[in-house]
Amino acid sequence: MNTQWEVVIGLEIHAQLATKTKIFSGAATAYGAEPNTQACVISLGMPGVLPVLNEDAVRKAVIFGMAIEAEIAPYSVFARKNYFYPDLPKGYQISQFELPIVGKGFLDIEVEGETKRIGVTRAHLEEDAGKSLHENFHGLTGIDLNRAGTPLLEIVSEPDMRSAKEAVAYMRKLHELVRYLGICDGNMQEGSFRCDANVSVRPKGQVEFGTRAEIKNINSFKFVEKAINHEVERQIDVIENGGKVVQETRLYDSDKDETRSMRSKEEANDYRYFPDPDLLPVFVSDELKAELKAALPELPEAKLLRFKTDYKLNDESATILTSSRDMADYFENVVKISGCESAICANWITGELSAALNRADLEIAESPINEERFAGLVARIADDTISGKIGKQVFEFLWNGSESADEIIETQGLRQITDTGAIEAIIDTILAANEKQAEQYRGGNEKMFGFFVGQVMKAMQGKGNPAEINKILKAKLA
Ligand code: ADP
Ligand code: MG
Repeated sequence: MNTQWEVVIGLEIHAQLATKTKIFSGAATAYGAEPNTQACVISLGMPGVLPVLNEDAVRKAVIFGMAIEAEIAPYSVFARKNYFYPDLPKGYQISQFELPIVGKGFLDIEVEGETKRIGVTRAHLEEDAGKSLHENFHGLTGIDLNRAGTPLLEIVSEPDMRSAKEAVAYMRKLHELVRYLGICDGNMQEGSFRCDANVSVRPKGQVEFGTRAEIKNINSFKFVEKAINHEVERQIDVIENGGKVVQETRLYDSDKDETRSMRSKEEANDYRYFPDPDLLPVFVSDELKAELKAALPELPEAKLLRFKTDYKLNDESATILTSSRDMADYFENVVKISGCESAICANWITGELSAALNRADLEIAESPINEERFAGLVARIADDTISGKIGKQVFEFLWNGSESADEIIETQGLRQITDTGAIEAIIDTILAANEKQAEQYRGGNEKMFGFFVGQVMKAMQGKGNPAEINKILKAKLA
């Protein structure tokens, strides 16, 4: 038998909302503190304490809903999702069930040049759980409740994706969007943005979906792709060997590159959801919606389009320069401050600067060269004070120090020499020292011209104006 299989994927993404305090208490949400120093009585789930909703979490959820053109529920409800786990001392997680704050919306992704619309089913507010720490506890498990109560937005997609590549494209798009909106820091190592992937396969042409497995808590784009591909192979294997895929929760082990069964899948009714009697329903007024809509930043797609038309950038540069809001702002500031053509600014940012940031594993916001200093470099290349080659040297000084480009050019003596008298003198010396090569050139060996340019540049330590050197050499060798 040679069945063609179709892959079906739906993602549930948890984005930690970048609020200062927790969703139901005033405890701090900052990452990396000593365990349990940010666990207040509400985080600890002490009996008798009452949760109070953080308005900022609501605002951030609404902002997200608007950005994916979703319906914002005028009225939504918090519910208790009951289960036992050591890092959940209350015995229930406060989430939203029947009435989530954000309804149906969508996100357009691009895969291999094609645009595809992925449906978002809903996005709801909930609290994060604590963390179990298994290392350095002499065979015991430690519980850190600092994270308990951190606000999460769970974004649930329709089962619209048909390959691991589409799933990754969707996840990247969402990751970019929440950072653009400033509602989540997107830090995947710290767990601020994590993904559960629901995966099933069906014979091509079949209308009903196959049984899905859910792979929990994948925290990198690379692992999402690997975990899905691996899971697809496993499911096809099971079916082709006469077995049945069981609905279950699986874990991806990145060290072994495999998924493992964790537990059989629970159904919604196992959680005994019911409206939380300690919390009032959430009303989102038209005024609040209008206020947030007016303050919505320019979204990635609009920015990309504007960069291509206003700055005449090609696809590649525009994509790199709009990959984050910080990057886009940096570029626009450099253009503004330097007063230079957008093309030269774009080249130096996507080239030299991006490469250096990559090497140092830094974000643009952490760049040791700020916009003013970078604009100073671009301006001196644009007005021919230095050549592109010397520009790279100046860049190194900028990166490693605090001087401006002008100061570096002066103190290092890097100013381009355009004085024709000085260039002529050097050319005369070189021609005199290389008579044989000059003869060869005059005899028709045109390659010799490059040799002379190289010699002159070397003698001038790269500071000669290339156009002048060419002109004078041509004349003298004629
Ligand atoms: P639960 O909350 O129990 O995980 P949901 O019905 O809310 O279940 O679905 C969760 C996710 O699973 C959604 O993203 C949905 O698109 C996806 N999904 C549902 N059925 C399938 C399936 N057969 N194959 C792949 N993904 C699916
Ligand atoms: Mg789920």
